[in-house]
Amino acid sequence: MIILVSNDDGIYSPGIQVLAKALQELGRVYIVAPDRERSGASHALTLHRPLLVEEVRPRMYSVNGTPTDCVNLAINGLLPERPSLVVSGINRGGNMGEDVTYSGTVSAAMEGVLLRVPSFAVSVAGEGDFQFATAAHVALRLAGRILEPRSERGRGEQGLPPGTLLNVNVPNLPLKDLKGIRVTHQGKRHFSKGEVQELVDPRGRRLYWIGGNGLVWEQREGSDFEAVEGGCVSVTPLHLDLTHYAVLGEVETLTKGMKLE
Ligand code: MN
Repeated sequence: MIILVSNDDGIYSPGIQVLAKALQELGRVYIVAPDRERSGASHALTLHRPLLVEEVRPRMYSVNGTPTDCVNLAINGLLPERPSLVVSGINRGGNMGEDVTYSGTVSAAMEGVLLRVPSFAVSVAGEGDFQFATAAHVALRLAGRILEPRSERGRGEQGLPPGTLLNVNVPNLPLKDLKGIRVTHQGKRHFSKGEVQELVDPRGRRLYWIGGNGLVWEQREGSDFEAVEGGCVSVTPLHLDLTHYAVLGEVETLTKGMKLE
């Protein structure tokens, strides 16, 4: 059985190595990951240039592309057989709330799901001194549950529900300090003003840093953020159908009788 591991922090990030090592207990682990950090790459696919693949060592490939490129390439060509599981991470920093839409880590798992392989993303929700060992242990346990035969789990089937990926965020704590595991929904960030930093380069051109949002979250019961803040592992099921079903009627009204000529 093959397990595919990828990430968006790059193949030489410590998180991916710790994750791959932990998952070896369950199967043959292949790493296919970007050759450099691609955090914030979202679900980008490289369509206008070929991809260079380098075998760093046996079963470890670096690709000069995005996390999505890596998973796509691995499943569609690089691996000797289809993987039973895709695990993306361990990301340096949480991927919660709306941040999942920017996340290359989560998108690598999305690509796995699109190619019909059970997939999850795992991130350490911290800002430094990352406890990758804790998250790797959680990933190993979760992977074990996903892969275990149907009979051992009782109800349900092997793998994950179709079209579903799990977004896992682990508090940045030693394993013994984890308070539990919660199934959560995607939280919501407070978007505040003043996030753009302006600077001037030596030739007088103005430059800007974006993406410096503060970590301020709406307090919502059952959210990913709430679980992590309480010291619990957050497991959010995500799907790729972005339709907002609750407002279909309202949008019907909006477009009803709209003239197209
Ligand atoms: Mn990252």
